[in-house]
Formats: sequence, structure tokens, C-alpha cells
Amino acid sequence: MRIDLHCHSTASDGTDTPAELVRNAAAAGLDVVALTDHDTTRGYGEAIAALPAGLTLVTGAELSCRVDDVSMHMLAYLFDPEEPALLAERELVRDDRVPRAQAMVARLNDLGVPVTWEQVERIAAGGSVGRPHVATALVELGVVPTVSDAFTEEWLADGGRAFVEKHETDPFEAIRLVKGAGGVCVFAHPAAAKRGRTVSEARIAEMAAAGLDGIEVDHMDHEADARDRLRGLAKDLDLLVTGSSDYHGSRKTVALGAYTTDPEVYGEITRRATGAFPVPGTGGA
Ligand code: AMP
Ligand code: FE
Ligand code: FE
Ligand code: ZN
Repeated sequence: MRIDLHCHSTASDGTDTPAELVRNAAAAGLDVVALTDHDTTRGYGEAIAALPAGLTLVTGAELSCRVDDVSMHMLAYLFDPEEPALLAERELVRDDRVPRAQAMVARLNDLGVPVTWEQVERIAAGGSVGRPHVATALVELGVVPTVSDAFTEEWLADGGRAFVEKHETDPFEAIRLVKGAGGVCVFAHPAAAKRGRTVSEARIAEMAAAGLDGIEVDHMDHEADARDRLRGLAKDLDLLVTGSSDYHGSRKTVALGAYTTDPEVYGEITRRATGAFPVPGTGGA
């Protein structure tokens, strides 16, 4: 069983449509794929309609959170997408991404870059708008060669010249909301140091006590020593350990299934969830 529990589509900042994502996941030999777009569940319908036989879809989202002045991402799986409290918070965060992206465009204009909101809006094409869309505009304008090259102090990295914060949920509130919607919480790439400061182990211990289910350990942004440390932390705190690609299509170089999750951990996630069931593929539309 090959299980990839963290993937993005055009519903946020990936480049595969939800239908393309599930077809590519099947072609990559995956048995289970999770759709975890930033702050939205909008890709579910299309992914389910296109789901190939033999591939199971885990519905989810990656929630933008902030604690101790550190931005972090919380993967939420198999929650009820209609549950009103979590839905309201998700929409608040997603909608705040629009004025925030517009503010980043204004910063870039002040820095002499002729990017426009219309350009970014076209690139985002209705998905949860984020820095990767702004970065794609910078690539189109020839300001930087690749999306990754826009994530520097000079441009869009945390604290960078054109960076603007967005509304982000307190992770303890996120855990409460996800649990209330029957979902399971996994702290995404907790040691991704190149993205900025990371959350302390003491804080992660508090999250574990508050109901956090697991941490993502095998991820491209984690070096071998960070993975070893996180595995030890998970053992101490009795947390599940996941691995996943964090696939973004052509906006990142990582391939679907580059990192995977143990089938026993996947089984435990599905047993804990009460908000939704994994969806078995029936052949697709
Ligand atoms: P935002 O949610 O708008 O703040 O943007 C964060 C997103 O930017 C992450 O989810 C990644 O998809 C992307 N990102 C962060 N760092 C990098 C990087 N170094 N290279 C490419 N994409 C990145
Ligand atoms: Fe992303
Ligand atoms: Fe993330
Ligand atoms: Zn992600």
C-alpha cells in the first residue's frame, strides 16, 4: 500500500486540477491520496467525480495557523466539511487571503515590480490565493527564474520585503474545531526551518495534550537529523508519524508519492475520524 497524505490542487496553490491530481496519483502507483488544499475543501467534488478505481481519496485540508508568532500548518483529515464552526473559520482564513495578496501586489509595485492583482487573480483561477500565485506572476514577469526563487528575503519569504501576513488560526483552536467536526489533526512539516522559525517541542507537547493526533515527519523540507528528532518526539508524546509529498504540481519539484505513510498509521487515522469516510474510487467520470 502506497499512501500519500498531503497534496495540493488548483483549489489552492497546486497546478493539477483535482481531477488531474487523482489521475496522476493513480498513475504514480498510489493506493491512497489525500487532498489537502490550503484553507478550503472546494476541490472535493471534482476529485471524487474523477477518482479512478483502485485509488482511495482521503478528504482533508491544510489549515493556516499561528502560535508564538510562528506560522504553521495543520493538516486536518476526514472532518465533516459542512460542520459550521470549522467551515466559518476556514472561510475566514481563505477569504482574508485576497486582501493580503492585494497588499503584497501593492508592496511589489512600491518596489518597482509591475505586477497587477488581475494577473495574480488569473493565475490563482479561483483557488485559495497564496504566495505561490504571486511568485508565479514574478516568474512570468522575469523577476525571478522559478517560484522557489521568490521565497527569499528580497521578495516573499516570511518577513521579506513584499511579505504581508494573513489571518491565521490559533492551532489549539484549530484542534478544537477539527475534533468538533470529527476530524484528525496532523502538524504539517513541523521542522521546516528554511521557511522561518519553527514551533517549540514544549508547544507541540501542549498540542498533543490538547488532542493533536500526529506529526508529519517524512517531508522534503526535513533533513535526516530533524526526522530522527521528530520520530523521538512522536514516541515520547504518543503521536502518529506520517510521511507525504506535499505535492504542488509544477510549482514544486517534489513528485507524488515521494514520501509515504505507513498503512498502520493510515488505518489508525481512519479509525479515529468520525466526520467523513475515505472515498473508494469507482472509475471516474
Ligand atoms: P501562503 O499560504 O500564501 O503564505 O504561502 C505558503 C505556501 O508557499 C506554502 O504552502 C508552499 O506552497 C509555498 N512555499 C513556501 N516556501 C516555498 C519555497 N521555498 N519554494 C516554493 N514554494 C514555497
Ligand atoms: Fe502550498
Ligand atoms: Fe504546508
Ligand atoms: Zn502543503
